[in-house]
Amino acid sequence: MASVAPPRWRVPLADVVVSDADIAAVADVYRSGWLSQGPLAKEFEAAFAAYTGAPCAVAVTNCTAALHLMAMAAGLAPGDEVIMPSLTFVATANAVAYTGATPVFADIAGLAEPWMDPDSVRARITPRTKAIMSMPYGGHPGETLALAELAEEHGLLLLEDAAHALGSRIGARHLGTFGWAGAYSFFSNKNLTVGEGGMVVCPDEDVAARLRLLRSHGMTTLSWDRHRGHATGYDVVTRGHNFRIDEARCALGLSRLGRLEHENGLRAVLDRDYRERLREVPQVEATLAPGGGGTLAHHLFTVVLAEGIDRDATRRALAEQGVQTSVHYPPAHRFQIFADAATHLPVTDAYAARAITLPMYAHMTEEQVEIVTSALAGAVA
Ligand SMILES: *Cc1c(COP(=O)(O)O)cnc(C)c1O
Repeated sequence: MASVAPPRWRVPLADVVVSDADIAAVADVYRSGWLSQGPLAKEFEAAFAAYTGAPCAVAVTNCTAALHLMAMAAGLAPGDEVIMPSLTFVATANAVAYTGATPVFADIAGLAEPWMDPDSVRARITPRTKAIMSMPYGGHPGETLALAELAEEHGLLLLEDAAHALGSRIGARHLGTFGWAGAYSFFSNKNLTVGEGGMVVCPDEDVAARLRLLRSHGMTTLSWDRHRGHATGYDVVTRGHNFRIDEARCALGLSRLGRLEHENGLRAVLDRDYRERLREVPQVEATLAPGGGGTLAHHLFTVVLAEGIDRDATRRALAEQGVQTSVHYPPAHRFQIFADAATHLPVTDAYAARAITLPMYAHMTEEQVEIVTSALAGAVA
């Protein structure tokens, strides 16, 4: 097969380093002969719960599956509405739609505050509203506390798509643990990556048991338990899925979780460096300003261009300089499957037209930040 050589970016959008320790941990799994979900999944869940302070954690194949299980366990059903940002990855909306419930899109707070606006959420609450799904954009807590209050006030569940926010906290409390349940992603470009993987955190063992049942066909016993002779038969008590994660990914997750805090710290330094350099570029506004004394995962570094600057031409100019960029996100309310003429989200639309996501990853260098910001300054001058 012909190899597909990726473009050699001087600065890629995201990048993964797999250490020798990571590789050794994964190799041990393959040598052990037990590859599918087993004891390492339990260990990864326990370590993840300990790290985030969540009462329970359930590991799954990816965050889309995590969101889907969370939506099922929350009892979402046709006729229910879930208010969520449109400015998110489409999986947030799909996960709710899989249950038959309807995603209802709310606007963001501002161009430099691209998180869901509680006032916009409040305006969309109806008797059908069952939950609010927050998505801490870029790992920033945004209005998480106000959304939790709003949910409480109206008797709604707060669900968190914390795919960007592993390691972010308000005080000591981790994002993803402010609601009834939270979902995390271990996809290749996320702060903790295993390639494909996800986790649901939940309030108690009853919910965790329900999530585990739904993760594996609704079956009352696992292959691992049958393998060890702890169980023979099984019953099927609900319509579940196969959202299990394999042991190699759990070994990789465990290995990498140990350096997540350090890596998020490196991201924080790069974030400060970016902001300092961009202060001298008046056409470019950095978003997601840290504040409030918490800890941030710095999953994304995004900027908004001054009105009138051609965003796509700017991205092309950066690409010519070897700088890879992206746009997070084409808003969900503009996709054919969710489009609804009544949905009016002016701030989301403006952001989606003017924002650029710049490279950000733990081992990015200060020189690379310099390359990106000089290229950007040159492009918008
Ligand atoms: C990455 C991401 C997801 C999906 O995660 P997968 O693990 O790829 O399924 C969902 N929501 C948001 C906000 C994401 O960034």
